[in-house]
Amino acid sequence: MSLAVTGALLDGETVGLRVEDGLIAKLGPAAEPRAGDEVIDAQGLLLSPPMVNAHTHAAMTLFRGYGDDLPLMEWLRTKIWPAEAKLHPDDVYWGTRLACLEMIRSGTSRFFDMYWHGAEAARAVLDSGLRAAISTVMIDQLDPAKGESMRDEVLESLDRVADAGPRVSPSLGPHAIYTVSSESLAWLAEVAAEREISLQIHLSEIEDEVRDCLEEHGKRPAAYLDELGFLGPRTVLAHGVWLDEAELELIAAREATVVASPAANMKLAVGGLLPYPAAARAGVRLGLGTDGVSSNSNLDSFEEVKLFALSQKHASGDASTLPADEALAIARGLRSPTLGGTQLEEGQPADFLLLRGSDPELSAGDLDADLVYAAGGSVVDTTVVAGRVLMRNRVAPGADELVAEVRSRAARLTA
Ligand SMILES: [Zn+2]
Repeated sequence: MSLAVTGALLDGETVGLRVEDGLIAKLGPAAEPRAGDEVIDAQGLLLSPPMVNAHTHAAMTLFRGYGDDLPLMEWLRTKIWPAEAKLHPDDVYWGTRLACLEMIRSGTSRFFDMYWHGAEAARAVLDSGLRAAISTVMIDQLDPAKGESMRDEVLESLDRVADAGPRVSPSLGPHAIYTVSSESLAWLAEVAAEREISLQIHLSEIEDEVRDCLEEHGKRPAAYLDELGFLGPRTVLAHGVWLDEAELELIAAREATVVASPAANMKLAVGGLLPYPAAARAGVRLGLGTDGVSSNSNLDSFEEVKLFALSQKHASGDASTLPADEALAIARGLRSPTLGGTQLEEGQPADFLLLRGSDPELSAGDLDADLVYAAGGSVVDTTVVAGRVLMRNRVAPGADELVAEVRSRAARLTA
């Protein structure tokens, strides 16, 4: 059975959409359902591309509200790392399931994940219906011998994610340059190149990282990573708050992607933001991510894109910085081929949203501007990924059970 949508609005025109084999087979005024199709009557709903959450730690829904109002390193050392030491693989499954539900409810079709027990996260993604690039985080505490002893485990986890099934792609996720040795970073870059998979890392989130890197290696973080062969078209760099112009030019030349996470930056008071104007001038490929729930504290990419645009305008003292249509394109993963954002076009994956055009936030004005400045994820009525309806009329099946399951696991982990 295929899916068809009738009566939706797209750029002011009433259109239909028909899905075949997970792709948009037909889109436009003439697109009609065929006999036997599952039909969504989308009167009053606006057809829209989905969001791509380019940096998160999905299972951290388990730690929502745990250790709020602490600075980054104190929060990690006194709250998150001790609680994570108690994690079981099935905690990651359920935490990721809840994250997927939250992303379905706020219009995200695909995310980039870095967390423990990647195979469990992959299973949760498959069961939820979303798409994701899943990495199992690697931390060797700057000890190359420890890093070497972890290699078999890293490869095994990678293979399990690679074999998980459709909609999940394997990825590698060294945590940061201050928690992973040069030797391990270089090795991971080699594995990623051999397997043609993405590499995710936190980069220049806090200023101390830059100072320590200069002291230790005599160069700034991006140059250090480049020397290790780490920067390439499939590299995804989270945060990039303290990147200077030379680093941005280097990153642009290597075609790596930098992902802004303004909510987490502001909540953890890192003291800055991705220097968007300089990054745009340098031609850096950009994405937007919520980061994990415990440093955000939600996974709503509509909220994130508003914070992104507003914080950049505020920081630059120029209201024309990062206009709504560009902020939205970045949030939809359309400004970096690595992020896999999709457009509403025939032949593209059947990943799309139907938005409530009658909601007050969307009832007047320019749609792109309303989506960035006025809307939250609650304007999403229907979420479709790979031609499968994951939410309809704002109802996603199993929500109550997932919340209860994660609540009880969170209580155990944070006790
Ligand atoms: Zn992060």
